[in-house]
Amino acid sequence: MATTQEKLVIIGSGPAGWSAATYAARAQLQPLVFEGAITEKNRMAGTLPLGQLALTSEVENYAGFPAGNLGAFLDSALPKDRRQMMAPHEGHGVTGPELMELMRQQAANFGTRIVTDDIARVDFSRRPFRLFPSAGGEVEAACVIVATGASANWLGLPSEEAFKNRGVSACAVCDGALPRFRHKPLVVVGGGDSAVEEATYLSKFASMVHLVHRRSELRASKIMAQRALDNPKITIHFDTALAEVLGDDAAGVTGVRLESTTARGTTTTLPVSGVFLAIGHTPNTAFLDGQLELTPKKYIVWKQHFRTATSVEGVFAAGDVADDYYRQAISAAGTGCMAALDAERWLAHHHG
Ligand SMILES: Cc1cc2nc3c(=O)[nH]c(=O)nc-3n(C[C@H](O)[C@H](O)[C@H](O)COP(=O)(O)OP(=O)(O)OC[C@H]3O[C@@H](n4cnc5c(N)ncnc54)[C@H](O)[C@@H]3O)c2cc1C
Repeated sequence: MATTQEKLVIIGSGPAGWSAATYAARAQLQPLVFEGAITEKNRMAGTLPLGQLALTSEVENYAGFPAGNLGAFLDSALPKDRRQMMAPHEGHGVTGPELMELMRQQAANFGTRIVTDDIARVDFSRRPFRLFPSAGGEVEAACVIVATGASANWLGLPSEEAFKNRGVSACAVCDGALPRFRHKPLVVVGGGDSAVEEATYLSKFASMVHLVHRRSELRASKIMAQRALDNPKITIHFDTALAEVLGDDAAGVTGVRLESTTARGTTTTLPVSGVFLAIGHTPNTAFLDGQLELTPKKYIVWKQHFRTATSVEGVFAAGDVADDYYRQAISAAGTGCMAALDAERWLAHHHG
C-alpha cells in the first residue's frame, strides 16, 4: 500500500469503531476503518475483526434487539457473501457475530471504507499523523479515533477453551442471567475488585458462588472484600487454583477440578454449572508505543470530563480501550458516537 491521505481513520472494529464510523460517514468525513487482520495471532488473542462480541453467542442486553426470528432481517440487511459465512439464525435473540455484522454493514451503507488489516504502529509526533498497517505502506490522517478494545484475560487451560460459551464466560454482567446459570452453583476465578463484583452480581442468580483465589487473602479493596465475606451465597476458596473445567458435549460445564496452591497435588472437585474468569482485561494499546497517555493498567486516558479527547489533540479514543469500568457493548457504542462527534467538531475547527 502506498501513502494515502485521510481526513479520519478509525482503528478497531467493535461496537465503538462501527458506531463512530456510522456517525462520521453520515457527517461526510469519509472515514477509513482498519478492522484488524485475520491472522492466527489475532485469533489466539481474541482480537479478530468484529471485536469481543464476535466471541460470544446470544446478546440479551443490547437495546433494540429483543429475542425473535431475525433470520429474514439478516438476509435482507447483509450482503450475500458475508451472510453465507455466518451460522444460520435459529429464532433466538441476536448473537454477537450477527450484531457485529449488522453494525459493520450500517457503517458501510453510509460510505465507510474498510481495510481488513491491523495498524501495527503509529506516529502521532507530527501532523498529519502517520499510521503503519501490518501489510505495509503508510496512511496519513488528520484525525484518528482509537477503538481497539480490550481482551479478557484467560488462564489458558485447554478445558477452559473447550467450554467457552458453554458454561465458561469472562463477563458476569453479560451472561450471568442466562438460564444455564440460574439457580445453579457457579465458580468465579480471581481475587480483585472485579472478581468480588462479579461474584456479588452472580449471587443474585446462582444457588451458590464459589470464589476461587490463588492467594491467602483477596486483593480487592477492604470494603469489597468484606462484602464477599459477608455474603451467605459466596464461599471463598483461598490458596486454590482452577486446574480443569469438567463437562461434556450435551450439558456443557458440569464441574471444576481445583488444586491447592500451597499443597501441590491436592485436588478437589466441585459440581458447578458455570465458570466465570475475572482475572482482568488487557487493553489493546501496545501498538501505540507510549504515544498516548495511558493509565497504570494501560488504558487510554480521556483528558476532559465527558469527552473522548486523548493526550494528543486530534486523536480520540472510544470503547473498552479507554474504559476499564463499564465494559459493555452499548457503552462502547455510545462513546464511539461521542468520539465521532468530537472528531467532527475538531476537524471543523482545525481543518475547515
Ligand atoms: C465473551 C464475551 C461476551 C460478552 N458479552 C457481552 C454482552 O452480552 N453484552 C454486552 O454489552 N457486552 C458484552 N461483552 C463485552 C463487549 O463485547 C465489549 O464491551 C465491547 O465489545 C467493547 O467494544 P469495543 O468497540 O470497545 O472493542 P472490541 O469489541 O474489543 O473490539 C475491538 C477490535 O478492534 C480490532 N483491533 C484491535 N487492535 C487493532 C489494531 N491495532 N488495528 C486494527 N484493529 C484492531 C480487533 O478486531 C478488536 O477485537 C462481552 C465480552 C466478551 C469477551
